[in-house]
Amino acid sequence: MASYFEGARRELSLEDGSRVAVVGGGPAGAFFAYFLQRLAESADLELEIDIYEPRLFTHRGPAGCNHCGGIVSESLVQLLASEGVNLPTEVVERGIEAYMLHMDVGRVRIGTPTDEKRIAGVFRGNGPRGSERALRVGFDRYLLDLAASSGANVIRSLVTRVAWREDRPELEHGGGARTRYDLVALAAGVNSQLLQKGCDAAPGYTFPGTLTTFICEFHLGREAIQASLGDAMHIFLLDLPRLEFSSLIPKGDYVTLCVLGHDVDEALVDAFLAAPEVKRCFPGGKVPELVCHCFPRLNVRPSAQPFADRMVWIGDCGVARLYKDGIGSAYRMAKAAARTAAFHGIAAEDFEAHYGPACRSINWDNALARLVFMATTAIQRLRPLRRGVLRMTATEQAREEVFKHMSSVLWDVFTGSAPYKDVLVRSLHPGFVASLAWNLVAANTVAFGTHVKGTGHD
Ligand SMILES: Cc1cc2nc3c(=O)[nH]c(=O)nc-3n(C[C@H](O)[C@H](O)[C@H](O)COP(=O)(O)OP(=O)(O)OC[C@H]3O[C@@H](n4cnc5c(N)ncnc54)[C@H](O)[C@@H]3O)c2cc1C
Repeated sequence: MASYFEGARRELSLEDGSRVAVVGGGPAGAFFAYFLQRLAESADLELEIDIYEPRLFTHRGPAGCNHCGGIVSESLVQLLASEGVNLPTEVVERGIEAYMLHMDVGRVRIGTPTDEKRIAGVFRGNGPRGSERALRVGFDRYLLDLAASSGANVIRSLVTRVAWREDRPELEHGGGARTRYDLVALAAGVNSQLLQKGCDAAPGYTFPGTLTTFICEFHLGREAIQASLGDAMHIFLLDLPRLEFSSLIPKGDYVTLCVLGHDVDEALVDAFLAAPEVKRCFPGGKVPELVCHCFPRLNVRPSAQPFADRMVWIGDCGVARLYKDGIGSAYRMAKAAARTAAFHGIAAEDFEAHYGPACRSINWDNALARLVFMATTAIQRLRPLRRGVLRMTATEQAREEVFKHMSSVLWDVFTGSAPYKDVLVRSLHPGFVASLAWNLVAANTVAFGTHVKGTGHD
């Protein structure tokens, strides 16, 4: 692969005193700085790491937030715990115990496979616009503080340009100041202007493909939330044009709504909120006024080349997991990039050899994800299939002793807790296929009784 810094090829690596810039202090940037600092210490290397992040994550509303559903997958909660990073209780707004799947043919509750509360519901910022001032530590602020406590400097400044000067990348920031670095990690996400037209310092980099999504918050109060939504995340598979899926996530006094689809706009959100399956989740069947909303972009196609000499792109502005567990993939990519920089080098070839496999692994899994989401789209569009899926899931949830084929597949699709490859393999298991075939027949044949207990239609 052609390197941007042709001509002066020599071994590029971090040394004592090397300066590293991280552009963006969201999950990808904070994890990268944290791991690079720790790995450098283990290699007896003294680095100076600057994280550029204009947000304090203390403002309430979109200005202080990185726009997301705020579900931290069980696999990430476990990985972090194994690193000694245990999310404190003031960061976790609610532990999610179960998923409730809503369809027009009924609803079914899917409990955690091991009856443990391991999924965390967090605010990325300091809560919705107009919320009471709370002693809250949002998830992003917690991670940024973690990176700072490991030794990184946090610079409250917007980076306006990444250029190349002499033999190193140079950042323009804070009203025209310029600083050169030995390594620049770009973690600015997909909602920033900075990289949308590519990057002057690395012509090979392309901005990822994105979709517009919708997020809003409703204020209901803790008691009303407990009564209407409980400790479950609510997922909707509704047959509405352009809608992929949507979820209601209870958090403290608020409920977060996320709508994913193709070109999500106000008309699609209105159609979704008018659906009876959605309305009945709110007290009295009435959807309250939303207190805060945004239309953030979501990475749905990776950057073609998320590395160059002395530069690496991590998290959403590079390669990210499709639809689910974006924070988990930011963690994995940040760690792979940090390990490469600390132990292997910072030339494009080093990133290609040691960071490239992590990128390819996510890209390959995302290709399989498209097959998984073709199946969820088929469920949305075909009513007989919805009936069969509902029956199979409800029957599994009602019986302790049976193997929960459909429940485990749906759980992992909705939580993002397992690679899409595992989900696909499990859905091709003969037991899954036979059970689905039987439930399709039973749910669509009057002789067998089409209604199942516990689905809201019994
Ligand atoms: C609707 C929706 C729902 C989602 N729900 C979930 C979920 O429930 N769970 C989950 O795991 N993932 C979810 N995601 C995905 C998740 O939000 C992202 O994958 C994750 O935030 C990526 O982290 P990041 O650090 O790469 O980018 P970001 O979180 O976008 O952080 C980028 C940071 O860079 C900073 N920045 C930007 N430009 C500059 C600049 N020029 N100079 C300095 N700093 C800059 C920003 O202020 C920001 O703090 C969701 C996404 C969407 C759109």
